[in-house]
Amino acid sequence: MSQNSELPAIRHLSGKEMRKLLDRYRVTDGKGFTLKDYHPADTAGHIIGHRHATALLNGGVAHLASLQEKLYAQDRWAVLCVFQAMDAAGKDGTIKHVLSGVNPQGVRVTSFKAPSVEEKRHDFLWRVIGALPERGHIGIFNRSHYEETLVVRVHPELLEHQHLPHELVGKKIWDQRLNAIAEFEHYLANQGTIILKFFLHISKEEQKRRFLERLNEKDKNWKFSPADLTERAWWDSYQDAYEQAINATAAPHAPWFVIPSDNKWFTRLVVVAAIVEALDRLDLKPQALTKAELANLEVARRALEAEDD
Ligand code: ATP
Ligand code: MG
Repeated sequence: MSQNSELPAIRHLSGKEMRKLLDRYRVTDGKGFTLKDYHPADTAGHIIGHRHATALLNGGVAHLASLQEKLYAQDRWAVLCVFQAMDAAGKDGTIKHVLSGVNPQGVRVTSFKAPSVEEKRHDFLWRVIGALPERGHIGIFNRSHYEETLVVRVHPELLEHQHLPHELVGKKIWDQRLNAIAEFEHYLANQGTIILKFFLHISKEEQKRRFLERLNEKDKNWKFSPADLTERAWWDSYQDAYEQAINATAAPHAPWFVIPSDNKWFTRLVVVAAIVEALDRLDLKPQALTKAELANLEVARRALEAEDD
């Protein structure tokens, strides 16, 4: 952890500093992308110190809350945040902290678990479509359509339960799925959905430490599932699958953020900064009323004033 007391007391990041920080982790073109270029314990060196992270995070959360109100009032754009990660990388805690200040009426969190029997009888985007955010809202996907190119790719036997025609299940299936996702996200972007995708990048050592904490501390026991250990054994295959997914689907309209996640405070800070930056770029003003709408308001005002009380 970069807890250097020599670090300057930065309580506020300027727009330029924030962009610089985010550019470090933002992937908008997957060509040549490799996870090796991203270190899970990175904390952007001297840009931020742990001591000031809480103040920065609180500032970011408050800024996000005010931007969300404007997003809701304007009622034109939708925001979709996708969270993907290995177990114990901190998806749940990040979602909880980042959303702590926002109006629950404008947010919907959907956790995607193993698909139900009904879901498996449909194309893989079917269940995702029903969970997309409406205009003015923020949608959070805790896992997502990407699982179809991650867990299913690592365990291809899962395909057998998907009722696909046999001739459509071949070597090309992963590229086809990734292309389908890229096209789907392009379509959503053209429909007014801002897409931000977060890969919480944790190291294998830190995952072990967090699993042991869950096993050793009684009040954290519930967070551990024996399946977590089974999946850990497939670590390298998952890393490959993530690399290929980011490679094929990073785009300017649907960037991936590869967030170093060995330090929870840093993960949360970068995620909130990314959402704030994306909302800041929009011109979030309530839509101006038309002449007819203004005339209706005037009629309502006169009617209220004319009431005898
Ligand atoms: P946590 O462990 O923090 O509670 P989680 O997201 O890991 O959160 P779990 O209930 O442990 O939640 O796991 C959900 C499981 O569902 C994951 O193992 C994931 O890979 C699996 N899953 C999600 N989508 C699919 C899918 N399309 N096909 C198969 N498995 C999936
Ligand atoms: Mg889990």
